[in-house]
Amino acid sequence: MEHAASAPRRWDLEADVVVVGFGAAGFAAAVTAHDLGAEVLILEKAPEGEHGGNTRVAGQGYLNTSSPEKAAAYLRALCGPYTVPEPMVKVWAAEMCRNNEWLTSLGGDPQEHQHQPVGIEFPDLPGADCVHKFHDGPTYGYSYTWKLFERLVKQRPIPILYETPARELIQHDVTKEMLGVHAERGKKSLSLKARRAVVLTCGGFENNQEMIRDYLPGVPYCYTSGSPYNEGDGIRMAMAVGADLWHMNNYAGPSMALKVPEIRSSFSMQALHFSKEMPGGMIVVGPDAKRFTDEKFKTRHGKVPVHGRWLPLATPCPMFMIFDHRLFSAGPLYDKHPSHGWTQIVERYDWSGDNRAELAKGWIKTAGSMAALARLIGLDPSALADTVARWNRCCDAGHDGEFGRTLMRAPIGDPPFYAVELSPSMLNTQGGPRRNEKGQIVRPNGTPILRLYSAGELGSIYSYLYQGTGNIGECLAFGRVSGRNAAAEAPWE
Ligand SMILES: Cc1cc2nc3c(=O)[nH]c(=O)nc-3n(C[C@H](O)[C@H](O)[C@H](O)COP(=O)(O)OP(=O)(O)OC[C@H]3O[C@@H](n4cnc5c(N)ncnc54)[C@H](O)[C@@H]3O)c2cc1C
Repeated sequence: MEHAASAPRRWDLEADVVVVGFGAAGFAAAVTAHDLGAEVLILEKAPEGEHGGNTRVAGQGYLNTSSPEKAAAYLRALCGPYTVPEPMVKVWAAEMCRNNEWLTSLGGDPQEHQHQPVGIEFPDLPGADCVHKFHDGPTYGYSYTWKLFERLVKQRPIPILYETPARELIQHDVTKEMLGVHAERGKKSLSLKARRAVVLTCGGFENNQEMIRDYLPGVPYCYTSGSPYNEGDGIRMAMAVGADLWHMNNYAGPSMALKVPEIRSSFSMQALHFSKEMPGGMIVVGPDAKRFTDEKFKTRHGKVPVHGRWLPLATPCPMFMIFDHRLFSAGPLYDKHPSHGWTQIVERYDWSGDNRAELAKGWIKTAGSMAALARLIGLDPSALADTVARWNRCCDAGHDGEFGRTLMRAPIGDPPFYAVELSPSMLNTQGGPRRNEKGQIVRPNGTPILRLYSAGELGSIYSYLYQGTGNIGECLAFGRVSGRNAAAEAPWE
């Protein structure tokens, strides 16, 4: 068990409120606390240019609900049997209706998403018509909303210490309240005093494979299309001062994507996207060389219906996308369009137009026959041949009797054949330290850890189903709540 540190003899820096992590939640907490008169400092683990976390590379939508009553009903329904305390539901619902009003008051220009359908993820649930998705800037994507958040912080005298990860919380020996944070800058350790409070907004555990194995159901490993800097640090730090955890098993995923060691984030395959029709035959198989899903199903952020419940998509690893030469020749397998995603926006990997560079790297495997391809990727050749033959018969019959797939229902035709190994991938985790309606992080017995707040996907409210744009919406909502309450604390000396 890790322990929190006690107060150092000398502090290197100090502020009223120390905010850990500069994404949407860090923005909302920092600006709110600052505008209420607090001196604020932000610690950010990533170097400048790679800061902004998942927020920077998100689709940039945020939720602004139309009525607190409907929003509360919708959130209760999204949580289903995984209920969250009613005071939390009420605060979420009230604050979610105020996101636009707040951003407008700061000079933002909320634009409602125009594409149809509106993007209500679970339209049959009560209150669902409260959903309204907004972004800032000329269109959604391209970091536009993030650019507003970043600008609003930089317009204020809020120091941002880049490449300075918080490592541990500093706790009073007797009262156990938070006094500050130890951080690391280069090889140097820094002690930062937080006169009023610490707000943890340092994201989830998308890049911590040990936590993924421990907490996420059904995935032995999982990668992210978001920031590589979210490694569960906030969870570790909060646990060390006695925090309870919640929603650790909930995440926005899985999808199936390519992950290669050279690039930190995952590559989404165009042919697997529900809205993309491409020529050629394609299926996905598991280690038994059998299909296990409708490859083109539009999951609800990774959840699929199973016997009347929504469960995470099964991802029997390793999985392989098997396809024919027609699909290989139809253009890049990866959508490198830089509207969102870390690989597109930050890594900017230049995927070749004809897929040949990735073939040469071994990211795509090929063979002249299906049996040779199976041997190359370690599958049973006769099982794979059976699966392909069954799929081709489904296409001829115009009906996928196994999984009901209706999109890209083309047979796997002419050789050579190809395979891409797929990994489970996600946008973000939802779990972390449990928080209360004031944004305070609480212990297993429900008592708050004094002067310690959180916001954002580090311990988000989402326990089961997820409404797209709900994460950034919640960053704004609870960022304000935590920023307000942190600023209202009396200084501890
Ligand atoms: C491709 C993609 C698209 C998405 N699209 C949407 C969307 O359109 N709408 C929506 O609502 N949600 C979307 N999401 C989810 C959403 O982006 C995130 O849940 C949300 O942005 C999280 O914000 P945050 O402030 O909690 O964390 P982040 O934005 O991830 O910020 C956390 C910050 O903390 C820093 N950090 C980590 N550890 C430390 C440490 N020890 N010390 C200091 N700093 C640290 C990180 O570097 C990072 O900058 C998307 C996610 C992805 C990956």
